[in-house]
Amino acid sequence: MSAHIISGKDIAENLLDNELSPRVEALKAKGITPKLIVILIGDHAASASYVRQKEKFAERAGIKAETWRYEDDVTETKILDEIEAINQDESIHGVIVQLPMPKHISIEKILRAIKPEKDVDGFTPENVGQLFLGEPTLECCTPKGIIRMIEASGEDFNGKHVVVVGRSNIVGKPVAILALNKNATVTICHSRTKDLDAQIAQADILIVAVGRPEMINGAQIPEGCTVIDVGIHRKEGGGLCGDVHFDSAVKKARAISPVPGGVGPMTVFSLIENTIEAAEKSL
Ligand code: NDP
Repeated sequence: MSAHIISGKDIAENLLDNELSPRVEALKAKGITPKLIVILIGDHAASASYVRQKEKFAERAGIKAETWRYEDDVTETKILDEIEAINQDESIHGVIVQLPMPKHISIEKILRAIKPEKDVDGFTPENVGQLFLGEPTLECCTPKGIIRMIEASGEDFNGKHVVVVGRSNIVGKPVAILALNKNATVTICHSRTKDLDAQIAQADILIVAVGRPEMINGAQIPEGCTVIDVGIHRKEGGGLCGDVHFDSAVKKARAISPVPGGVGPMTVFSLIENTIEAAEKSL
């Protein structure tokens, strides 16, 4: 039997119409239009494409989104000054810095400069700390979107075994904490994990964020598992693929997210939702 395909694209569009648009309307009735600033440094084709998706979704949600572009050789001081100006500007509710950044700019320094109330990527130590404590906060966008899409697929976290492959600060670790906060039992795997297959075999829900094209295949996936593929890679012959080998995994999974059209749109959705949330909190 073939798996249910969890379309992040459809879920995001449905939530946009039914949840986000009414919230934006309510804010506008109070004289507030949520506004997001995206700081984009340098000339990366992939980053430019992600930024366009964010701008498009923001426009559909009825919020303002501006991309502030800088050359590759912009100084760290200049970016810190811009962030300070954004922090002070009451008409701006959220700011993100599109990664990757040039090596001469410290990501840690930049992230720590953003006011936590405007950190709509959920990357500042304050927001990560609150997420860890299970307190309401601006949650990291990709993990937040993953949890939302798993729930939308009809899966419940309570008592389930979630196996996360990857322990990055922006995906693996925070998604593991969010699942734990929802009463899942969580295993986090990484490049030093011994017998990865044995860990994956325990999964009711498998979340893969390794950054390696099609590393996990159907033979490793337990029957009936819900599979979320976070990876995104350009294939040599054209097209995109994820960290999971979709054609073999789809035969074993209960439900699976595709690439493209899975986690990507949910990440963008979460960013716009966080901007609206930041605007609501500013009232
Ligand atoms: P990172 O490179 O930061 O982290 C990768 C993780 O995978 C590390 O923890 C690493 O372990 C682990 N890993 C690597 N190789 C193996 C292996 N052979 N076995 C087990 N674990 C392994 O990646 P990100 O988390 O930032 O991103 C992961 C993927 O998701 C990328 O393809 C990225 O492009 C994509 N992505 C997609 C997003 C979206 O919105 N669709 C958003 C963010 C990311 P260790 O720590 O030991 O090195």
